[in-house]
This record gives sequence, structure tokens and C-alpha cells, in this order.
Amino acid sequence: MVKFEWSRSIRARMALVMSLSGILPIVICHVIVAGANGFRLSDLIWYLPLLPILILINWSLSGLVLIPLVQLLQATTKLANMDIRQRLEVDPHEPLEAFELRKSFNRLLNRLEESLNIQCQFVADASHELRTPLTSIQGYTKLLQRRRDSIDTQLLSEALQTISDESGRLIRLVSDLLQLARADAGQAVLNQLEVVDLRDVLSSVEDTVSVIAPEQIEIQCLLPPKPVWVFADGDRLKQVFLNLTNNAIKATQGGGKVTLTARPSNQQAIVRVIDTGIGIAPADQQRIFDRFYRIERSRTRSRLYGGGTGLGLAIALTIIKAHGGSIQLESELNKGSTFSVKLPLADKDQLAKAKKETQAKIDNAAFDDLPSSQTVARERSGS
Ligand code: ADP
Repeated sequence: MVKFEWSRSIRARMALVMSLSGILPIVICHVIVAGANGFRLSDLIWYLPLLPILILINWSLSGLVLIPLVQLLQATTKLANMDIRQRLEVDPHEPLEAFELRKSFNRLLNRLEESLNIQCQFVADASHELRTPLTSIQGYTKLLQRRRDSIDTQLLSEALQTISDESGRLIRLVSDLLQLARADAGQAVLNQLEVVDLRDVLSSVEDTVSVIAPEQIEIQCLLPPKPVWVFADGDRLKQVFLNLTNNAIKATQGGGKVTLTARPSNQQAIVRVIDTGIGIAPADQQRIFDRFYRIERSRTRSRLYGGGTGLGLAIALTIIKAHGGSIQLESELNKGSTFSVKLPLADKDQLAKAKKETQAKIDNAAFDDLPSSQTVARERSGS
């Protein structure tokens, strides 16, 4: 291994290749010219001293060629110990390749800095969100401690209610953060993928929200007569549509309507969550899927958006993207919003496989249901 160590250096390789490509044509010319007058192999020995001289010259020449690379190496080594906000100096007069290499290195640094800033912002936002309920819990706990001997029942129940609400908020926030962190770390967002009829998912969402939605808001679910099959994680899809529907309900005043629809179109399933609520301004529409983004933070803490963490839509988008789908938003202030979720429809193979598995399950169930004497009889007859 050690004897090939030299060839790891680009400079050594360049010197050797240049020397060989220099000496080879000379030798070939010699063979051709000497061919007529009788060529002898021993004549080639005269070229041997030429090889080390050529290697020496080419070694110095390749050093010249590699100067920009060496400079770049020095600059990046220096940069490794410096601030990530610094950039490599770009000189338009240097060789094109080195110039482009510096530029693309700077581009890489830009991206790194950008993602570092996003991470820092995320940590700051998360800390802020965690601090608010914790402060509230601590405040009420201290109050209860101070008034231990003279506490009235109303204050006690108010304190316990707040502590319970804020702890619930903390648990929701931490589990949301965990879900996003897992997705960021490249871990699987989805658990069990199977062929799912979107009508079942939306009906289950409708059942859940009908219980919690205020009576003055009409919840409508318009579903097609035929199944809309998708290959998906049904629980995660329910989480997404529950989030969108909950948001729609929160944004809708009494007398308003929230509609859920599903339909297949061009190899895609389209689910729409439509509300006649407060709507979203164009500037907010750009950022609504950002983590911790809430429209008018003061209003979001009000009756309409109490308890939201600003992570729901970010998680919804992560889940839908993991399914190979997308979410679009159309909205007009004071008129309402429509969130359209597009998902790929299940293909023929997935449907056929699901059908086979269901049939096998039915067969097994039928077999299990047989009285034991019949089972024994079947076993004996070898069927
Ligand atoms: P949160 O958990 O706070 O609801 P989301 O990410 O689900 O977080 O939503 C972010 C913000 O987007 C909400 O706080 C709300 O201001 C706004 N929003 C979401 N859906 C709607 C909607 N249908 N109509 C109006 N505003 C909405």
C-alpha cells in the first residue's frame, strides 16, 4: 500500500502523466524512423535518463497549475476556524475553474448560514412557546403556595384549571416539536401505509369535529358515491384533515359554514376544506405554513385561536409531502378560505394487493369462525 502513497497526490499524478505523454511520442517516432534502418530495443535505453528530467520539469509545472487549488485549500482551512458568516474572496482574474469553485463554495456557505439561521430562529421560537405556559404554571403554583392557609375555592379551581390547560398545551407543543424534529432528522413521518378510502377518513373527521364545533357553525361533508382510494397512513391523514377543519371552525363566526369535499381527478385525490370565515390576507398566505407562524399574535391568543401553537399547518404540510402530495391555499379576507390537499390516487398494483389481503383476511376469519368439530373435519379431509 505504502509504495502507491505518492499517487494520491494530484501533483505527482500530473507530473507522471505529463512525462509519459511527453516521452511516448518521442519513442514512437524513434521506432518509426529506426524501423527502416533496423530497430534495436537497446537503443531505447538512451531515453531512460530523459524520464527523471521530464518528471522534474513537469513536477514544477504541475505545481504552477495547482496554485489556485492550493490557495483555495488554504482559504477554506482558514475558514473552518472562522465565523460562518465570512466568505471566500472572489477574484475575477483568477482561472475560471478556481473562480467558479470559490463562487460555488460561497453559495454553499450561504445555504449553510441560511439553515443555521432557521435552526436558531426555530430554537428561539420553541423556547418562547415553552416559556409562556411554564411561566403561567409557575405563577399559579407560587400563588397557591403563598396562600396555602387562606385560599378560597374559586381561586383554587381557577389555578388548577390554568395549570391543567397550560400543561396540556405543553404536552401538545412538545409532541408537535418531536414530530417535526423526527421529520427533519429524516426519520419516517408515516407509519403503516395501506389502501385507504378518503371518504372513511373524512367521515371520521366529521364525526370528531361535529362533537366539538359550536352549534351555530354548520359542518357539511360532501363525498362522492364511489371510493377515493389512496395509498396512505390513515391516522396521519386524519390528523391533517382534523387540523385543517379545526382551523376552519376557529376562523368561522356563528352562522358560517365549514365544508369538506373529496373527489378524484387526473390520478389525484383532491380534498378541500372550505370555510366562510375571516379569511387570510395575501401577505400571511405566504407564511402560513412556516413553523410558529400565527396571524396577528394577539388575535391568535383570543377566543378564535386560543391554544394554537402555530405548528399545525407546518406538520400538515410535512405529512402531505411525505405522501407525495401538496397543499394549496386560496383565501379572501372576510370571505373565507379553501385549503386544497392533493394526494396521488392508489395505483392498480396497490389496489390489487389490498384486495388480495382483504380476501385472505375474510377467508381466515371464516375458517376461524368454524366450530371446532368442523375444523377438525376439514383438517382430516385435507382441505
Ligand atoms: P395553530 O396551531 O396556531 O392553529 P396552524 O399552523 O394550524 O397553527 O395555523 C397557523 C395560523 O394560520 C393560525 O394561527 C391562524 O392564524 C391561521 N389560519 C389557519 N387556518 C386558517 C383559516 N382557515 N382561516 C383563517 N386563518 C387560518
